[in-house]
Amino acid sequence: MPRFEDIGLECEVMGDRIEANVFGPPASLFEDQVARVVNAINSLKVIAHRGDRLVYNLYNPPQPTRAGFHAFERNMKAEMAGHALPATANLAITMACQCRCVHCSAERFRDNGGRELTTDELKSVVTQATDLGCTVVIFTGGEPLLRDDLFELIAHVDRDNAVPMAFTNGDLLTAQNVSKFADAGLYSMYVSIDSPDRRSTTACAGARACSKRPSKAFTAPWTREYSSGSPPT
Ligand code: SF4
Repeated sequence: MPRFEDIGLECEVMGDRIEANVFGPPASLFEDQVARVVNAINSLKVIAHRGDRLVYNLYNPPQPTRAGFHAFERNMKAEMAGHALPATANLAITMACQCRCVHCSAERFRDNGGRELTTDELKSVVTQATDLGCTVVIFTGGEPLLRDDLFELIAHVDRDNAVPMAFTNGDLLTAQNVSKFADAGLYSMYVSIDSPDRRSTTACAGARACSKRPSKAFTAPWTREYSSGSPPT
C-alpha cells in the first residue's frame, strides 16, 4: 500500500495556473489523481497574487503553500477513500454578542444551559480538525472578539496545515485589535455589513445593544496591520 509519506510534490506557478509534479517511489500510482486535483484547483478563479502565490478565495489556502499542499493531500485521500473529508472547521467559540440582530442564527443557542468550551478544549478541537484535513479554521460566534483568548486560539492554528479566519460584527475592530489579529497570524476576516446605510445597519443590529459601525471597520488602519501579517508559507 503506497503511503503519502513516500511521495513528494513540487509545484510551480505559471501565470494564473499551477503545474504540479509528483515524485517518489509510488509516484506513478498518483499521477492521475494529482492531475485531477490540479485541474480542480486551476478551475478556480484567481482573485489575487501574493508574491508568487495564487489566492483563489478565502476558503482555500493560497497555492503553492504548505497549507495549500495539505488541501492537496486531503483531496487525494478523499478520492482514495471514496468519501469527502472535512475542509473547513467553523467554530462558534462563544454565543455572547453585544448586538441583537433580527436575523441572528446564534440567538437560539444563548442561555440554553450550555457552556462555552475552554481554551484548551478549543485548541484540541482545532488540532483535531486540521489533523482530519481541514485547511481553513473559522472563529465565529456570537462575536468572537468578546473572548479574551481569541488571539491565542488563532495563533494555535498550525499555518503549515491551515489558514485561520475570523467572522466579526466589526464593532470591536479597534486599531489595537487589528494589530493583534495580524500578530496572531490571521489570514482573512469577514466583517458583517447589513446595509451600506448606517441607520439601517444600526437598526438591524439593535440600536441600544451595539453600534455595528461599518464605517468604523473600514476606517480602521487596515493596510499596515493586515499587509504586515505573516503570509502563508
Ligand atoms: S452580530 Fe452576529 S452574532 Fe451578534 S447578534 Fe448579530 S448576527 Fe448575531
